Amino acid sequence: MDFVEIAGTVAESVVDGPGIRFVIFTQGCPHRCKGCHNPHTWMPGGGRMVNIDDLFRQVAANPLLKGVTLSGGEPFEQAVPLARLARQVRLMGKDVISYTGYTWEYLLEHPDDHRRFGELLEVTDYLVDGPFVEELKDLKLPFRGSANQRIIDVQMSKGLAVPVTAYWG
Ligand code: SF4
Repeated sequence: MDFVEIAGTVAESVVDGPGIRFVIFTQGCPHRCKGCHNPHTWMPGGGRMVNIDDLFRQVAANPLLKGVTLSGGEPFEQAVPLARLARQVRLMGKDVISYTGYTWEYLLEHPDDHRRFGELLEVTDYLVDGPFVEELKDLKLPFRGSANQRIIDVQMSKGLAVPVTAYWG
């Protein structure tokens, strides 16, 4: 039985990626971005532990969902249990978006980090990457906070030096 520490969930969101999405705000983030909107998610131990199977049951119970969004906090700090959830979600035909303060390049270069970044990257459809940079904040950007962040089609980018980016209008 796998557990993940979360700050909360939103059962139906239309602001965390395309379509109606189940959003999991993970607890614990090492990035400490200036101007972060969710500083209460920074401290590991400040959230609550939930069973991955319980989260999956909530997702499976809603046929309207296009997919699941993993947000923060920093989902990749808990890559192993979230990868297990993501695998189950994708087997249902739904997609997985992971927000991260790490860059795509950093995650690719450290797949076997003790947090096992590679496991979650493997089952992520879209990655919204990079820290929030207050100086590059742009309210006009859909689904992103600052202009340095990219929406990367992870599966299409496999084996490429430069990632394939997606546009969600
Ligand atoms: S990565 Fe996200 S949650 Fe973490 S400090 Fe930056 S903006 Fe906040």
